[in-house]
Amino acid sequence: MSGAILILSGPSGAGKSTIIQRAEPLIGDFYFSISTTTRAPREGEKNGVDYYFTDPESFEREIAAGEFLEYARVHGNYYGTSLRPVREALEEGKLVIFDIDVQGHRLARERMGDRITSAFITPPSLDELERRLRSRSTDDEETIQRRLQNARKEIEALEEYDYLIVNDDLDQAVEEFVALARTARLKPGREAAREFRERWNSLG
Ligand code: ADP
Ligand code: 5GP
Repeated sequence: MSGAILILSGPSGAGKSTIIQRAEPLIGDFYFSISTTTRAPREGEKNGVDYYFTDPESFEREIAAGEFLEYARVHGNYYGTSLRPVREALEEGKLVIFDIDVQGHRLARERMGDRITSAFITPPSLDELERRLRSRSTDDEETIQRRLQNARKEIEALEEYDYLIVNDDLDQAVEEFVALARTARLKPGREAAREFRERWNSLG
């Protein structure tokens, strides 16, 4: 069996972490891809849980060694997905969930598009996004302005995604995400589809 990939993108503050956390008990065995980043941890964030926090020099060494499936610069920091744990989880037949930006989604599609399902998650409006970023109280004014600016740019890529989840009512957004996670598992990828067909024929 080989696994499948579910990519979530959307502005910082869209509610991606909240939704994944709430959905966790409802979507079966999955691997959440822990990204590596050079940004500073927010209050309450733990190394190896939310992100692997590192410095720019180490990050650039990993780029040179070809260790990232994809990476991007977002809000002036590096963010990247390490290839190895993703490969291992896929080989174990798991659903792998990514929370990455639109540049990362494009790169991942180029490399593993046949087994990717993707969704863009956003609050109902830019105003509501601003309210949520402020209520999260983790970012200073400059960071909030940068995130809002970036959000205006990110939504331009909406049409590149398979699905759109508008996170207005949180319970409904979680329900939609759970449905998506179940559907994403049904996308086998080219290699697994061929293996299945060969087995299917030989049993016939
Ligand atoms: P992301 O992971 O996309 O950056 P978070 O999950 O941190 O976003 O959510 C940003 C803020 O918005 C948090 O304070 C969270 O509690 C709040 N939030 C998430 N979903 C909703 C919702 N449907 N309605 C109101 N607030 C929400
Ligand atoms: P935050 O700083 O709010 O945790 O994340 C900022 C942005 O970086 C979000 O849009 C998030 O999806 C994106 N991001 C997080 N990890 C990765 C990653 O590994 N690769 C890419 N390309 N983007 C990421």
